Amino acid sequence: MSKGKYLEFHDLDSIVTIGSVRFNVYKNQIVGHIVQDTLNPDAQPIGDVTGRWMSPDPLSEEFPEWSPYTMSFDDPIKFVDPDGRAPLDYFDKETGKYLGKGGTDEIRLISKSDWDKGNLNNYSTKGKYLSDVAAKNIVSHYIQFTDKKIEKNVEVKINNNLDLSAKYDEKADKIVLNFPKEIIGGTIENRYDMINMHEHETFSHGNDHVKLWKNEHRKYERSKDGVRFEQNAVNYQVRTSSWNKTSYEFKETLYNAGYNNYISISDQNKYFIDVIKKLRK
Ligand SMILES: [Zn+2]
Repeated sequence: MSKGKYLEFHDLDSIVTIGSVRFNVYKNQIVGHIVQDTLNPDAQPIGDVTGRWMSPDPLSEEFPEWSPYTMSFDDPIKFVDPDGRAPLDYFDKETGKYLGKGGTDEIRLISKSDWDKGNLNNYSTKGKYLSDVAAKNIVSHYIQFTDKKIEKNVEVKINNNLDLSAKYDEKADKIVLNFPKEIIGGTIENRYDMINMHEHETFSHGNDHVKLWKNEHRKYERSKDGVRFEQNAVNYQVRTSSWNKTSYEFKETLYNAGYNNYISISDQNKYFIDVIKKLRK
């Protein structure tokens, strides 16, 4: 459900209502009774245990394609939900085609036949063994999940030389994202890392490149535009909904590359606190 975002476990409740009985779960004792008003049909006691099932899944807004009333994506044999966290994303490692979700939020690469047979432990996470086409399809899958819709068409171009950057192709009127496939399974571990990468590169830089072309009819120049572009991108990405769920490695990579310096000190202390705490030790 929510990875700690919402209260979902009620183990701390000491007194629960079961029917019309108040029960202390620590002492194993009935501690009271609710007197029913039998004359008023609307005033019947509702146990607080049943009440938990009367609200939709708090993470449901992250999976708009699924009804909030479904459990385990309608496939409880393949998928279990022991602790209510968001599921894994599985991709066909040959083609990069999205297969489905299955228990943490890591990106997993698996063969279609293992997926079909339910051999979900036969996976890898390393993007460097993917074909460029497969990697392109995987990266492209996450464009749809940015907080705000990206107005231009986006083309993902895979490379092996650690070039992660966005450009605007004004002739084709599209944003081009250059993406190094080996960071899948490295800096980028889970779906939120991938989405947040798109918030920085594809959304923020992409839009800034488009704006520069529209307003000044020129291309990006690092010496003139570099600092402003990064300030915009980092200030934006830390405020999107995927930021809090990005992996520690993702945040540390940004921090070690100095991207934290593009936001204010108080924002650094807010958004990079895990990394700052760990590096202080
Ligand atoms: Zn950037």
